[in-house]
Amino acid sequence: MRKIDTRQVQHATRTTSREINRKIVLNLVREHQPISRADLARRMRVGRGMISQLVDELIADGAVYEGATANAARGRKPKMLHVRTRDRFAIAIDIRFSRTYVMLGDLEGRQIALESFDTLLSPDELVAELGRRVRRLLDGHDVAECEGIGMVVPGMIHRRTGQILNSPQLGWHNVGIREELAEATGLRVFIENAPIACALAHMWLNPANRDGSDNFVYVTVSDGVGVGIVVNGEVLRGHGDTAGEFGHIPLSLDGPRCLCGLRGCWEAYTSNVATLARYFGLDPSVPESRETLRGSGFTMEDLITRVRSGDTRARAALLETGRYLGAGLATIVTALSPARIIVGGEITDAWDLISGVVSRGVRERTLTDAAAATPVIAAPAGATLRLRGATALLVARKFAAPKVV
Ligand SMILES: [Zn+2]
Repeated sequence: MRKIDTRQVQHATRTTSREINRKIVLNLVREHQPISRADLARRMRVGRGMISQLVDELIADGAVYEGATANAARGRKPKMLHVRTRDRFAIAIDIRFSRTYVMLGDLEGRQIALESFDTLLSPDELVAELGRRVRRLLDGHDVAECEGIGMVVPGMIHRRTGQILNSPQLGWHNVGIREELAEATGLRVFIENAPIACALAHMWLNPANRDGSDNFVYVTVSDGVGVGIVVNGEVLRGHGDTAGEFGHIPLSLDGPRCLCGLRGCWEAYTSNVATLARYFGLDPSVPESRETLRGSGFTMEDLITRVRSGDTRARAALLETGRYLGAGLATIVTALSPARIIVGGEITDAWDLISGVVSRGVRERTLTDAAAATPVIAAPAGATLRLRGATALLVARKFAAPKVV
């Protein structure tokens, strides 16, 4: 039961129920494509005439298209419906502490072209560089119509203004780049905290993932550690839009200093930077150490390769991270009781090595049998995970329920 917020409410008009039905049809096509009009009518328990009208509107809008005809036992062969995604282009941007990735792809997150460059920590310079690259990608691939830009950043985002409230990774406080990039490119720009975007991608770009996908937590482990929370099919944001910052909840009050300025944050034990620093015997809270690590070009993938080739120090550094990862995930389970937790990031390449210690950490620090058994699943490692998240920012808007009450 959800209380109606009378300050936010937008009254239902005569077109509201029609809008809701269109979204239901669109989502049914997405989940069951290819699907016929007759099958849609059966699933929605409404007449064929109403379905045909709604489908015609969706086709006219370019959201749905008619594909091949199906084989019917008798009578007229039905034309099968699909969601139109392949010939709809989008730009996805992933800004990280180390590098920034720019991808031209379609609305399913399939890559057409990808480029990257060292992240410029001056917001103005970064926006100028992104603007140049976006234009070049669109011109170079003769894209006349682009759905917009989805951009993910390692930081907390103010929902209405798109401002980056705090990004410890980038050292930014109250920085705006959304409007600036929209101006530079003439495109709509959506911006989101990377783990929230990854959670949206899990929900919207994987229609097959219906199992438990309404209540889950997505944890990204990379330069930092971020968390996106989905409760009843909706991202949990909280009053100030900063809910879910488990990365900055302390495992120990006297622990190592975190980039956010506090001590002992989960991130300071678990990020890639923390793991690499542990291996090299560096203090990651010292700026010079981070520069040394960045300059060395030594990555998490390199560390995992060393573990597999028998480097015992590398193995110890990795397993230590697994232990802290498990302890932090237990906090999330205790706080939110999700159906499952998905972990994304380079560390999942070594999931066969650390999943035991991660699961043990969850088991040891939770309070019921059900909590202890919460599945922790590794997303396949790969550079495009967060770019899929950026694409999902555009996709989610097309399929989400209309905001009425
Ligand atoms: Zn912190």
